[in-house]
Amino acid sequence: GPSGAIRVTQRMETTIPGIGAAGDCVETWHRILQRPVYLPLGTTAHKQGRVAGENAVGGERSFAGSVGSQTVKVFELAIARTGLCEAEARTAGFDPVTIEIETWDHKAYYPGAHKLRIRVTGDRRTGRLLGAQILGHWRSEVSKRIDVFAAALFHGMGVEDLNDLDLSYTPPFSSPWDPVQMGAQAWMSAVKTGADKSFTADRPTNLEKGTQHESP
Ligand SMILES: Cc1cc2nc3c(=O)[nH]c(=O)nc-3n(C[C@H](O)[C@H](O)[C@H](O)COP(=O)(O)OP(=O)(O)OC[C@H]3O[C@@H](n4cnc5c(N)ncnc54)[C@H](O)[C@@H]3O)c2cc1C
Repeated sequence: GPSGAIRVTQRMETTIPGIGAAGDCVETWHRILQRPVYLPLGTTAHKQGRVAGENAVGGERSFAGSVGSQTVKVFELAIARTGLCEAEARTAGFDPVTIEIETWDHKAYYPGAHKLRIRVTGDRRTGRLLGAQILGHWRSEVSKRIDVFAAALFHGMGVEDLNDLDLSYTPPFSSPWDPVQMGAQAWMSAVKTGADKSFTADRPTNLEKGTQHESP
């Protein structure tokens, strides 16, 4: 394919009959962009490998696609993303609105609370969730929260729908409205009042250059 990685079908078949491929050597189907991108991750490699293996022995499995969920720990910080950032969404033809909030990871009266920073991007025209990024303390359930966004993205949910999710709550871990839902509410409010900020990057993003993954 154009990225230099092997072009495969969603059944993980190459153009050579009887030869399948999966993992870091192939292009990955992106569910939101609806096209192949280069997105080499262990999470996708495992799913693709299972599809390729099952089909190699007569199965009928299709790789459902990736939404680009990634998380890293840097000393005390956890950083995570899923879906598209504003610049990627704009390039893909959406009409993105992005908000950023800072909120406590759990009830501030319970010891050990840290601030979380969350960005939410959605499409102004349809209200569809397009992506999210979270930065916070590594014990602030950053991964759990990006995975809520990832599950919503996988199923094409609207930003507003996040408010209806029955997410768990107890003061040491969250608030009755989880920070994910506070982000959704801030997004709705920004769209209604026209107070959205722009986070468009000046430089092309990794996805625009063909990868979301410059280093592990
Ligand atoms: C340091 C690091 C950290 C990472 N952290 C994460 C993470 O946190 N989350 C995440 O999702 N992804 C992470 N990744 C990416 C993830 O590891 C890869 O996307 C994934 O391992 C790709 O799987 P693969 O099977 O395609 O390739 P590989 O895991 O690279 O497996 C390829 C295998 O083929 C073998 N091989 C190569 N040439 C030959 C040959 N000629 N003959 C026989 N065997 C051969 C290699 O020895 C290797 O064992 C990380 C990668 C690195 C390097």
